[in-house]
Amino acid sequence: MYHSDILSPPAHGHDVLTPPASCPALVLNADYTPLSYYPLSLWPWQTAVKAAFLERVDIIAEYDRVIRSPNLDMKLPSVIALRQYVRPSSHPAFTRFNLFLRDKFTCQYCGAHNDLTFDHVVPRAYGGRTTWANVTTACAPCNLKKGGRTPAEAHMQIHSRPHQPTTHSLQENGRAFPPHHLHETWRDYLYWDTELLA
Ligand SMILES: [Zn+2]
Repeated sequence: MYHSDILSPPAHGHDVLTPPASCPALVLNADYTPLSYYPLSLWPWQTAVKAAFLERVDIIAEYDRVIRSPNLDMKLPSVIALRQYVRPSSHPAFTRFNLFLRDKFTCQYCGAHNDLTFDHVVPRAYGGRTTWANVTTACAPCNLKKGGRTPAEAHMQIHSRPHQPTTHSLQENGRAFPPHHLHETWRDYLYWDTELLA
C-alpha cells in the first residue's frame, strides 16, 4: 500500500539540491502526446508517484532526483503516460483563457499583445450575444475606440471572424507558447513532430 507521507527527501547526495516540488511530471495521453500544451499538462511529483503506484500511468522518463521510503528508493518520474486514452472534448469551454488562446493573445483589430480585453463584435446594445461567434480579443485602446459600434460603423477591420474553435486548434495555438522551463526529457514529447531543419 502506498502512502505519500512515508516518502521523504534523501538526507545526502547531489540530488538533495533539487527540491521535489521543482520536479513536476509531464503528463502524456496514452498516445504519447501531451494532454495539454498550454498550459502544459504537469502534475506535482506526489500525484505522479501515486498514479504510478496505482498503475494508472506508465513512467516514461525519470529525474535523477530520488525519493526514499522505508521500503523503496525511487527516482521521480519526469514523463508519464496515461494507460487509458482520454478523449479530448471536441467543444472547448467558452472561457476567457480559451478565447484569448483562440486569438493567440492578439488584438484582432490592431495586432497588439498587451492590455487585452474582450469585444462584442456586434454590440450587446444591438442584440449581440456573448458567444464564440460574437466575442473577440481586443486591446483596451481598440475597445475604447470601437465603443458601442459595429466594426463597419467604427471603420475598423477585424483580422479574423470570431468562431467556435476546436480543441485541436486550441492545442495547436498553445504550442506556440513554450513553457519557461523545459526538462530535457520533455523535449522529445513536445517537439518530436515539429519540422526538422535541414
Ligand atoms: Zn488593438
